[in-house]
Amino acid sequence: MKYHKQEADCWVNNSFTSIELAAESATHLAIGAHQDDLEFMAYHGIASCYKESDKWFAGITVTDGVGSALGGDFVDLTPQELGALRVEEQRQAAELGEYAYQVQLGYPSSEVKNLVQENLIKELANLLLITKPKVVYLHQPADKHPTHVAVFKASIEALRRLSDEYQPEYVYGCEGWRDLDWLSDEDKVALDVSAYPELAEQLMLVFKSQIESGKRYDLATLGRRRANATYHDPRSLDEMQAVTWALDLQPLLVDKKMTIQSFIKLKIAKFEDEVLANL
Ligand SMILES: [Zn+2]
Repeated sequence: MKYHKQEADCWVNNSFTSIELAAESATHLAIGAHQDDLEFMAYHGIASCYKESDKWFAGITVTDGVGSALGGDFVDLTPQELGALRVEEQRQAAELGEYAYQVQLGYPSSEVKNLVQENLIKELANLLLITKPKVVYLHQPADKHPTHVAVFKASIEALRRLSDEYQPEYVYGCEGWRDLDWLSDEDKVALDVSAYPELAEQLMLVFKSQIESGKRYDLATLGRRRANATYHDPRSLDEMQAVTWALDLQPLLVDKKMTIQSFIKLKIAKFEDEVLANL
């Protein structure tokens, strides 16, 4: 397997002798911008495959991990040292979560946000083609982090290039730097993330360079999942202990000409109608 960036890193579960063989077994795939994004947004996929003999989770992380906010013991790291540390943390998460493979493509964030993303799209399309996942987890299109949105756009474009026979059955846009509370309930898919709560927490704590720097993503994400489960429906008891909301992105693959803007505009209009009708 060749990668566009020299800095690209590939971890393969030792049940497989190559990424190609790992990809053949993978059923659930998540594509995220940064080291740690997959564990926060796509834990549903990780937990669905954990200890299952016929399901495997695979992860793709697009950027090189350079440039996140640092504090505590990490404040003096050079950008290169930070990048190397974050790549290592992501490998630890893959090992702990027993992924099939974890690829880190090593793109600088500034390059991903560039309008011309052809190299990235091609690389993602190639990984999708060897993996042929049934379930795909992406950032959601209304995320407020520009790199998340750029990676989302490249991922949708790569998925659109897959032939119809290889299209995944489910494609979810997941919460990250913005939740999905602004969607009508009808447009939200509840991903039950109650399974293996200790694993969920451990998968966050490996990202020491972030969490111990003073960004408590672990507490925030676990709290959000619990809040989603409880505040979902005022008229019923909590059926799930933890929920990640997702937006069904299949319409963008069924109608490959539909723009992402028009897709999101419809969702916002539906939510607006619902709120105004209640008043
Ligand atoms: Zn991120």
